[in-house]
Amino acid sequence: MLSRYSKRVVDLTIACLCLAICIPFLLLCMVALRLSGVNVFRVHQVMGMGGITFQKLQFNTAGFVGRCLYAFKLHRLPALVHVIRGEMSIVGPRPVLSRDMDLRDRGVRKRLTVRPGLVSLWWLRQRANIDFSPELNTELEYVDSHSATSDLGITFRAALAMLYGSRSHKNEPIVEILKTHIANLTMDEALQTILQAAQQRNARQLCFVNTDCFNLAQRNQDYKNRLAAAEVVLADGIGVRIAAKLTGQAIVQNVNGTDLFPLLCRRLQGSEMGIFLLGARPGVTDTVQEWVEKNYPGARIKGKHHGYFKPEEEEDVIREINESGAEILLVAFGAPRQDLWIGTHLQELKVGIAIGVGGLFDFYSGRIARAPQWMRELSLEWIYRLYQEPGRMWKRYLLGNLIFIGRVLLSLPRGGYKHATKDAR
Ligand code: UDP
Repeated sequence: MLSRYSKRVVDLTIACLCLAICIPFLLLCMVALRLSGVNVFRVHQVMGMGGITFQKLQFNTAGFVGRCLYAFKLHRLPALVHVIRGEMSIVGPRPVLSRDMDLRDRGVRKRLTVRPGLVSLWWLRQRANIDFSPELNTELEYVDSHSATSDLGITFRAALAMLYGSRSHKNEPIVEILKTHIANLTMDEALQTILQAAQQRNARQLCFVNTDCFNLAQRNQDYKNRLAAAEVVLADGIGVRIAAKLTGQAIVQNVNGTDLFPLLCRRLQGSEMGIFLLGARPGVTDTVQEWVEKNYPGARIKGKHHGYFKPEEEEDVIREINESGAEILLVAFGAPRQDLWIGTHLQELKVGIAIGVGGLFDFYSGRIARAPQWMRELSLEWIYRLYQEPGRMWKRYLLGNLIFIGRVLLSLPRGGYKHATKDAR
């Protein structure tokens, strides 16, 4: 635990340095805001450490100057003053309006045992679009585990996230990239879609697409057709998000199968519905089942089968899936095989929804380690995969990402990128 005293010294030093450097800029902003005819500052009554309220200062975000400041997140600069006054820290839980704080809640009281921060773990995770647990849980995770290094890490990651992260906000329901239609869903909406389809038992298909999938689809017409025929296609990873940005669109959240799986298990706790795990090496699905039973007791794994069966065994595997009564089928053969396999057998399957999930079982069985949280927060999981299996992954990530972005750029209409996809439709 970072001692309060040393944290205070670090906060003071950073805040004084930043203020000293920024004073000319702050004065310029104040004059520009004044000239644009709006009040320079806005104040909000927020609750600080120990439940003490204070008036938090920020630049007004109204008018052209205010909007520019907001776009670069510079409207928060005046809050450095609160760090110097000891009301805030550089890193800490997000300051919350006093009226939104319910002090009867133990979690809220615990949150108030540290100073609120200019940068918070929750803010960071929202930018990286990877954390879907409630805000209070994330902030309490910070309160429980913060240290000098974690504070430094959060500050560094926040600076990077400011450059390319984007906060979840609702955009177009469909994002079109290289003629593939991606459902622009949040994690929560994706879960809802899966559970609804599971109940209806109409054998729907869900595919996750990352940059590698796009490259594969370019070479494999069957896969391309499959992605077009699937009921739901979801974007996985930063590459697809960058492509959306390049084409004037915005993907609302990084909804990948690996992050979705535990949330799905949580939703299935106590439900009659269950999952069939199909794929990976023999034994891997057993370990995944154990993981689910340990972490999400009550979530049903209704059946499982490895992914190395012979073509003549296929009929038996399909029978096994149908007899298991599972509503949700997760197929982990890797793309495009898993998605093509689902497409071929969709009519024979009595499940509600079949989802291709790539290496997911390997992660949850512990066979392959997942990237550390900080890398996932920076959407850099692919670098970790590259580090784990450079021989297999260099082509996919180093070359593949470049080829993908190149293709996206070439697909842009001459007149500019804005709303390219709408014109194409
Ligand atoms: N796999 C399988 N049957 C096969 C070939 C592969 O079940 O005939 C499994 C393999 O064991 C691994 C997964 O498919 O668990 C593919 O993982 P990969 O990392 O290649 O998938 P990605 O997420 O990259 O699409």
